[in-house]
Amino acid sequence: MSGGDKLDFEIHQNPQPVSAAERAAMLANPGFGRIFTDHMVTIRYADGKGWYDARVEARAPIPMDPATAVLHYAQEIFEGLKAYHAADGGVTMFRPDANARRFNTSAERMSMAQMPEQVFLDSLHRIIDVDREWIPTAAEGSLYLRPFMFATEVFLGVRPALEYLYVLIASPVGSYFSGGVQPVTLWVSQEYTRAAPGGTGAAKCGGNYAASLAAQAEAIEHGCDQVVFLDAVHRKYVDELGGMNVFFVYDDGTLVTPPLTGSILPGITRDSVITLARAAGRTVHEQPVSIDDWRADAASGRLREVFACGTAAVITPIGVVRTPDGEIVAGDGSGGEVTMGLRQQLVDIQRGRADDPYGWVHRVL
Ligand SMILES: *Cc1c(COP(=O)(O)O)cnc(C)c1O
Repeated sequence: MSGGDKLDFEIHQNPQPVSAAERAAMLANPGFGRIFTDHMVTIRYADGKGWYDARVEARAPIPMDPATAVLHYAQEIFEGLKAYHAADGGVTMFRPDANARRFNTSAERMSMAQMPEQVFLDSLHRIIDVDREWIPTAAEGSLYLRPFMFATEVFLGVRPALEYLYVLIASPVGSYFSGGVQPVTLWVSQEYTRAAPGGTGAAKCGGNYAASLAAQAEAIEHGCDQVVFLDAVHRKYVDELGGMNVFFVYDDGTLVTPPLTGSILPGITRDSVITLARAAGRTVHEQPVSIDDWRADAASGRLREVFACGTAAVITPIGVVRTPDGEIVAGDGSGGEVTMGLRQQLVDIQRGRADDPYGWVHRVL
C-alpha cells in the first residue's frame, strides 16, 4: 500500500545552477531530450512504509548496486507530458491528472507500487516551480516532464520488488518540427510485433521501447522514419507506432482509430483527439483497420488522411507507408485539412489560445 496522499517535499536548491547566459544559449536550440534543468524530484517507496523522503534536489546521477532489481528484470515505467508558457503569461500543464492515472495503471501491470495521484501532481508542480526559468518562451517550445519509477531493491530473486524510486526530470524541448509540420514515412514491420494480447502493450514501460528498437532499425534500413506495428495474432491489423497512436480519416469525414484492446497504449492525445472530433460532430469509430484495408482505401481514394499522435509531436501527418508489397499513400501524403485542423485546435487549447471546455489545462504558476 502507498502512504498518505500528501507528502512534504524537502527543497534543496542546486548550489551550482546553470548560469542565465548559458541557459539562454541552451534554450536557443533545445532539440528533444538533450538538455535538462537544474533539479529533479525523487521519492522513495518501501513495502510496509509507503512513500517517503520526497525531495527536490540538484539533478545528479543515481548510484546503484549492480544487483538492483530494475537492471535485471526491468520493473520500470514512465510518463511524458509538457508544461507551457500560456498565452496570458502563466504556466500550465495539459491533462496531468490523466498521466497520474495512467502511471498507476502501468504500475499495476508491472506489479509496482501505486502512487497517490496527488503526490504525482505535486511533484510536477514542484519541479516547474523550481525550474520555471527553463520553460522555453519560443512559440512551439515547452518543458517536457518525464516522471518515472523503477525497482531499487537489491535482490536477484524474481518477484515484485519491495522498494522503488520515483524520479521526475525535466527537459526543455523545441518545436518537434523545426521546418514546419512534416509527414513521417512509415515501415510496416513484417518480422516484429510490439505487444501481444495479455502482454504489456497498454503499460508505458521501458521494456516495450527496448522491444521496438529492432523494428525501428529495420524501418531506418528501409529509408523510413518510424515503424508501424501490426497486431501479434493475425499480423494484419494496425496497432500503433513505437510511441504514437494512429488515426484514419475517410472521405465522409469519419475518423477511425484502433480500439484499446490491451496491445496499444491508451494515449492521452488519442483520447483528446476523439473528444475534439466528436464535439465537432464527426463520427469516430474505435475499430480495427487492416493493412489490406489501408492499402485498398488509399488506392480508391476513400481514405483521405492518416495521422499519428502523441505528446511529443502532438499530431503528425503520415506520408508514404512502405511494405514489401509496395507503397501506400493516402491522399497526397501531406497533412490534410482534418489532420491539420485537429492539430491546430489541440495546440491552441494547450497554449491557452482557445477555450478549454473540458478542463484539460491545469494552471501551475
Ligand atoms: C506515450 C505513448 C503514446 C502516446 O501517448 P500520449 O499520452 O498521447 O503522449 C503512444 N504510444 C506509446 C507506445 C506510448 O508510449
